[in-house]
Amino acid sequence: LTRLYGPLTALSNVRVDVMSALVSFQRVFEVLDLQPLIREKPDAKELPEGAASIAFRDVDFHYPGADEVSLASLEDLARPDRSDNGRQILTGVSFAVAPGELVALVGPSGAGKTTTATLVPRLYDVSSGTVEVGGVDVRDLSASSLADHIGMVTQDAHLFHDTVRENLRYARPGATDEQIWEALDRAQIGETVRRLESGLDTVVGERGYRFSGGEKQRLAIARVLLKAPPIVILDEATAHLDSESEAAVQRALDSALEGRTSLVIAHRLSTVRRADRIVVLEDGRVVESGTHEALVDRGGLYAELYKTQFQEAGVL
Ligand code: ADP
Ligand code: MG
Repeated sequence: LTRLYGPLTALSNVRVDVMSALVSFQRVFEVLDLQPLIREKPDAKELPEGAASIAFRDVDFHYPGADEVSLASLEDLARPDRSDNGRQILTGVSFAVAPGELVALVGPSGAGKTTTATLVPRLYDVSSGTVEVGGVDVRDLSASSLADHIGMVTQDAHLFHDTVRENLRYARPGATDEQIWEALDRAQIGETVRRLESGLDTVVGERGYRFSGGEKQRLAIARVLLKAPPIVILDEATAHLDSESEAAVQRALDSALEGRTSLVIAHRLSTVRRADRIVVLEDGRVVESGTHEALVDRGGLYAELYKTQFQEAGVL
């Protein structure tokens, strides 16, 4: 454990590791010597290559309580003060993302957007209802097959204590240096890595070279570009970026999303506006959904968020 994560106090990072890597479930579990929460069925199915639809059907969800300890809730263990874990977070959430579609999840802070996103790669199991990928209940899929189909960039991209090269290769084992550099360049982080004395051999993470928040996020984007999965999930993926690199990274993200099924938790109006559908969450429920124009016309919560949040944030 210490080799990759440093002392056990780093436990609070574990879920973030799992989320940002996604690719390395197996490795995370090996390293932690823990059973995944998510138990794979003995007859777990493989998704057909390129399977890319997502569907939530009447999903209720609460975070696992203390009696339902799991790897995904290690974060909760590290924060035992979290006494409200039985509280229902999502109620009757239904929406679908067809292959190649871009769906934006929008809503006030605490509405359940991040939680919704984590259910797609099955970091947690639903309390009731189903989450499907490629038309199959994610509980029936093998963990590796599910991970292979999904790339995720979260607010807190986490790097393993390993070289830049290996941090990228988690996303695509066997990737060549050339492919790695291409992904780094497309994510606008190639120059930064080139300036490092050891380049791709630079050791990063807890006890290695410290990238800034924005740099880490660009590395996470590079992972997704390298992986090129059929499904891409972005959780406020440009939150750490200054506006200059944000414009550049936004282009990289746009190209990463192109032709893929995308579920984007967006605070940038430009992304939300071009979504095929916007799903608006409030207090764990879908309160409205539709295109930007339709929702603005409707004059509901989205219209309100549009007026306040998006315009105030200056992301027009
Ligand atoms: P959003 O991304 O829309 O801001 P979140 O999905 O992060 O919302 O949070 C929804 C609700 O779930 C919040 O009330 C939050 O406090 C709670 N929550 C988030 N993560 C956990 C967790 N690991 N354990 C318990 N509750 C959580
Ligand atoms: Mg969130």
